[in-house]
Amino acid sequence: MMSRTVLLLPGDGIGPEIITEAEKILRAINEKFDLKLTFETGLVGGAALDEEDNPLPDETLEKARKADAILLGAVGGPKWDALPMAKRPEKGLLGLRSNLKLFANLRPAILYPQLASASSLKPEVVSGLDIMIVRELTGGIYFGQPRGVRQLESGERQGYNTYAYTETEIRRIGRVAFEAAQQRGKKLCSVDKANVLEVTVLWREIMNELKSEYPDVELSHMYVDNAAMQLVRAPKQFDVIVTGNMFGDILSDEAAMLTGSIGMLPSASLNSEKQGMYEPCHGSAPDIAGKGIANPLATIISAAMMLRYSLDEEAAAAAIEAAVNRVLDQGLRTADIMSEGGTRVSTREMGDAVLAAL
Ligand code: NAD
Repeated sequence: MMSRTVLLLPGDGIGPEIITEAEKILRAINEKFDLKLTFETGLVGGAALDEEDNPLPDETLEKARKADAILLGAVGGPKWDALPMAKRPEKGLLGLRSNLKLFANLRPAILYPQLASASSLKPEVVSGLDIMIVRELTGGIYFGQPRGVRQLESGERQGYNTYAYTETEIRRIGRVAFEAAQQRGKKLCSVDKANVLEVTVLWREIMNELKSEYPDVELSHMYVDNAAMQLVRAPKQFDVIVTGNMFGDILSDEAAMLTGSIGMLPSASLNSEKQGMYEPCHGSAPDIAGKGIANPLATIISAAMMLRYSLDEEAAAAAIEAAVNRVLDQGLRTADIMSEGGTRVSTREMGDAVLAAL
């Protein structure tokens, strides 16, 4: 088997602390499953601004292009907030997404039964929740042209945007979603607004066409307003949801909050070669950086996603997820997920516990 490269980009704030723990787990799983992974590291965000005056140095971009997958901590912090737009740490992230053409955003919302009390919904509604939102990330109304604010003949100003998707864009995100459903519960719900928006009439048509290529996946359609309601009414009815950029932006945050714990949420952004960038959903948490108390589990679970979706190593991914489950069963909790009867642990102790459970 060919060697494959994983690029680690710790970034800022708690980024280095959580990436250290994820790297420990990845190195162990690499040995255990003989995955032949090699690891590189790079600078991104504020850390790169400090050293190279550029949030995405050429060297990092070059390494990212060559890597099979990227694991990122987080970027940003008050230190860089006053810089002009082009020199903001976030530009490093956006630059990676656009340069690598990462059009598919995968956001699982998993509620571990051990943490069911963290949700604002009743435990029986959310306990054991495991859904995946597949959001189109590089098209739709956030990027459509023309756009702007114009002066009408009446003298009034009008703001406008364009919601457009080509068949190619719909088909490629559809394929990612159908394939994700095949690897999971084999149910896909496509979310649109086909009663009002022509662009999503086409979206629905293409999803129906694709269905014939995935006979084992059950496809359903739902209007976005209903999907928003169903997500809080009975979220466990969903397996995989696929939707466009704007609806996905909103629904993925809604779904994330069903779980109540930001320190547990992973994400992936993939391109058509399945090359991907994996990162926790949370930010760099400057308020707790350097204290050794950040929850490394979102990053560790992101590493598991990386093994599954970019490196095709399902068994290794499942082993990490099982280890995380065991650690939660043991009652080990970082401060952010602490509950009655739990044992409070540091970032490093949490990483060590997952390692031991492997
Ligand atoms: P944040 O996610 O960093 O923090 C929100 C709250 O959650 C904080 O109280 C923080 O301590 C806590 N928290 C977050 N992750 C945690 C973890 N792993 N363990 C324990 N507690 C955790 O969001 P914010 O405060 O809005 O943003 C802080 C910085 O991060 C900003 O500079 C922002 O631009 C940046 N940011 C980066 C990303 C990214 O890199 N993808 C995403 C969001 C925000």
